[in-house]
Amino acid sequence: MNCKHNKRTEYQLTFFDGSGRGFAFPCDRVGSVDLNTLYPEGRESLQLCLSRSRGTIQNVEVQDSYILMDARGIYVARVCSLCEDEVRAKYRPEIFEDGNYDLQGETLNEDDY
Ligand SMILES: [Zn+2]
Repeated sequence: MNCKHNKRTEYQLTFFDGSGRGFAFPCDRVGSVDLNTLYPEGRESLQLCLSRSRGTIQNVEVQDSYILMDARGIYVARVCSLCEDEVRAKYRPEIFEDGNYDLQGETLNEDDY
């Protein structure tokens, strides 16, 4: 399984205070920050930052992957929308559908290649 996983781009409005410290706030592609997603302290520091500079918009690549679990809640693999079907195809379909599937002989690793 060599999928590098689907990536999505997120944006951050970033401020540096000149002494090596920085603040980053999640924003959209034009740099507007959704204040509803910030804690009150975050809103305050954003306003403080904005009073000093307009900030820099930075792209952040985020791996858009998630944990695939079987019907028993057992970890199977980390997958993304690109490789989930491929990973699932390596296992018996019932382990994702029937929480009472027979565990005997099931190996939840990738050694069977
Ligand atoms: Zn993937």
